[in-house]
Amino acid sequence: MKRKPMMAGNWKMNNTISEGVVLAQQICNRFEKDWGEDVDVVLCTPFLDLKPAWTVVDFENLPIYIGAQNCYWEEAGAFTGEISVGMLKEARVTHCIIGHSERRTLFGELNEDVNKKAKALLAQKMTPIICVGESLSVRDEGTHLEYVCAQVKAAFAGIDDIDAKNCVVAYEPIWAIGTGRTATPEQAQEVCAAIRSTLAELYGQEIADGMRVLYGGSMNTGNVEGLLAMEDIDGGLIGGAALKAESFVELIKACL
Ligand code: PEP
Repeated sequence: MKRKPMMAGNWKMNNTISEGVVLAQQICNRFEKDWGEDVDVVLCTPFLDLKPAWTVVDFENLPIYIGAQNCYWEEAGAFTGEISVGMLKEARVTHCIIGHSERRTLFGELNEDVNKKAKALLAQKMTPIICVGESLSVRDEGTHLEYVCAQVKAAFAGIDDIDAKNCVVAYEPIWAIGTGRTATPEQAQEVCAAIRSTLAELYGQEIADGMRVLYGGSMNTGNVEGLLAMEDIDGGLIGGAALKAESFVELIKACL
């Protein structure tokens, strides 16, 4: 089945408001409007950059989505430092990364939290980009498929098939994030195929075949073609290479 690819840039904790505006503008300057028919592009910016980045994209009238990198599942209240899905929605955010390995390892985000965040996003008709991926020690033990598929099952617990269709899964082996060490296309394909089989177990083959599974982990202009050629890889979640308009736009072009 042909799925529309997605290229999502994860800016992480980079770019002040003014820097973010410049980067968004540089991406827009290189972006052709009709690309939006062939690829979904998302800029996942820090919270403060969301509205300014959206303003740039909206002014240029381009089909580029704005995404956040985290959210909290409660609607409002005494949750100091958190941002609700409703707040993101009003800022024109359409996508949100959840369960990124940096949130899991540095901030203690659990599978149950990822599941609650996914449900809160889906309730507001937003697209969760659900990150899963194993550490080097899990890979070395040879249990990476079981580990990642268990993360997928936990993230989707209690989510029905209508909502599942609106989710994107990103396979990001922790050992490949920001390390320059990419998974080979075959390694990435093996896990992305296992993720799709898990989704098929949960929702049936037809729904699983329509859902996008991205690869993330040092994706760059040198390895993107090989990764995208794989049957079950439907795009990328990009960190470092999304911080320069030139490289990010080259990765987008690889989807056309
Ligand atoms: C990421 O942070 O999701 C990521 C994949 O980073 P990088 O591309 O820098 O490895």
